[in-house]
Amino acid sequence: MTDDTATDRLTELAKRRGFFFQSSEAYGGVSGFYVYGPEGATLKENLEDAWRDRFVRREGHMEIEAPNVMPEPVFEASGHLDGFDDMIVECPECGASHRADHIVEDNTDIEEAESIAIEDIEEIIAENDLVCPSCGTELAGEPVDDFNLMFETNIGPGSSSPGYLRPETAQGIFVEFPRLKEYARGQLPFGVAQIGAAYRNEISPRKGLVRLREFAQAELEHFVDPETDEPDLESVADVEVTLYSEARQDDADGEPVEMTVGEAVAEGVVGSDWVGYYLGVAQGWYERIGVDMDRFRFRQHRSGELAHYAADCWDAEAEIGGDWIEITGFAYRGDYDLSKHGEYADDDFTIFKQYDDPITVERATVDPDMSYLGPEFGGDAAAVGEALEDLAERDRSAFEGDEVTVAVAGEEYTVPVEKTGFSVDEITEAGEHVTPHVVEPSFGVDRLVYTVLAHSLTQDDAGESGADEDEDEERTVLTLPPELAPTTVAVFPLMDKDGLGERAGEIAERLRRAGFEVAEDASGSIGRRYRRQDEVGTPYCVTVDYDTLEGDTVTIRDRDTTAQTRVGVDDLPGVVADLRAGETTVGDL
Ligand code: AMP
Repeated sequence: MTDDTATDRLTELAKRRGFFFQSSEAYGGVSGFYVYGPEGATLKENLEDAWRDRFVRREGHMEIEAPNVMPEPVFEASGHLDGFDDMIVECPECGASHRADHIVEDNTDIEEAESIAIEDIEEIIAENDLVCPSCGTELAGEPVDDFNLMFETNIGPGSSSPGYLRPETAQGIFVEFPRLKEYARGQLPFGVAQIGAAYRNEISPRKGLVRLREFAQAELEHFVDPETDEPDLESVADVEVTLYSEARQDDADGEPVEMTVGEAVAEGVVGSDWVGYYLGVAQGWYERIGVDMDRFRFRQHRSGELAHYAADCWDAEAEIGGDWIEITGFAYRGDYDLSKHGEYADDDFTIFKQYDDPITVERATVDPDMSYLGPEFGGDAAAVGEALEDLAERDRSAFEGDEVTVAVAGEEYTVPVEKTGFSVDEITEAGEHVTPHVVEPSFGVDRLVYTVLAHSLTQDDAGESGADEDEDEERTVLTLPPELAPTTVAVFPLMDKDGLGERAGEIAERLRRAGFEVAEDASGSIGRRYRRQDEVGTPYCVTVDYDTLEGDTVTIRDRDTTAQTRVGVDDLPGVVADLRAGETTVGDL
């Protein structure tokens, strides 16, 4: 299959079998908004559960659900209002808007054009005679501008209270930090996760689920004390990862390199222990959910590409249809977010860190004589008092002479030291306030769903199937891990007569009561019914035949090997549970 055929096949299958399709098609469709059909919605939910299991439950983190709409000051503080832009260029002929960096990437050898300055992009467009992808008109000389990706709305009637749809779930966690830290009993480290919608008014949504305007993120914000907290690197030190470092990307012949997480951190390829830890954890998780690890790598952000908040960042990338797609970002965000909210908001975004033993420190303070400062400096007296306070903390030697001088709004004020109430006192401190640092693995759920589908879509000949699979046509199979498959087991009556249909219904009901997603199908040949289940990735099919009526056994068939065996009806729920958990195989039963 060529790359394009593979993606086309996936899109066709997704629509025909109910994984995903474009929304509002009855009204002409709207780019960047997709619907998950019945199969897709269950697949996505199973994927989110697998994420929750690994990144929340097993790590001992908490999970919250915050609103999608947040008020403007949040995004002033977070930097999104100012810095969350993409580069836009408008075609002078047809008026279509495009992402300028994508036009450059698609038509030159340049990769990651996002990190290039706007003026240089304009130059590259002109020098390479790049044209509008919609109508072919030359774009040389057209201005490239910043376009803010946030969707704006009004909170309540009128426009006095602007709000935005959150462009990442992360802010919903940062803003609530003052309360969340209480649930963690004020102790670092702790992690807070959230799975939910994020909105970005992408200039050109494309490639199905890859670039959406409304998408789902699964984000974890792990708050740590940078001085004392360390990740459990031991547990992932031997995990092999493929790393495409900034240095390797800069080298014309540079290829990604394979090494263990332990080596990568020790050799400084990955700069942060915490990021290294999560790369290791994530590697195992991607394998678990069926990402093809031969089409996978971790790529380091280049300096110009780093988001406004990030200190070091690696992306997990999966190859689909010849393109590398970012499925997760791992960022060391430092104290950027909490410091910013601490600065803009009216609450405490620090943690009080208790010392093992209280310490005694000298503290220089002032207690200005306002009956002197007032008449002397009028309206500026209070500001002079504050400036004296600051100076005492910063430089107590300034108070050694008879007079001290401070500057307020560009003016200098001189005060006799005896009027400042300057003193140095011994104070006992039990601890200090620290602003935690944040390590953030940020997963794009839709891109993961898309990757897992693309990597699990396979075609094989009828000849490779088992003996009684009598269809001649090519077999389309989604080799989804059983944990993710929308349906775990399908139940077929051999024929819908002689009570076989009723017996199949009873067995399906029993499996549902045991907690499995079950499908029933009585139409067409058994071979055709297998094909239908293979296409949606159902790992196990159970056939109810005349032996079931006599001996209470059924056949169970494996999707990938097409191996079959007979199992007692009473044992069936247990057998399916063991199969699903990978504790046995149909061949071994
Ligand atoms: P970012 O905050 O840009 O690092 O995004 C975090 C993750 O969200 C990425 O790794 C993607 O998987 C996902 N993501 C970002 N933008 C989109 C989009 N427009 N459509 C779908 N997923 C996205």
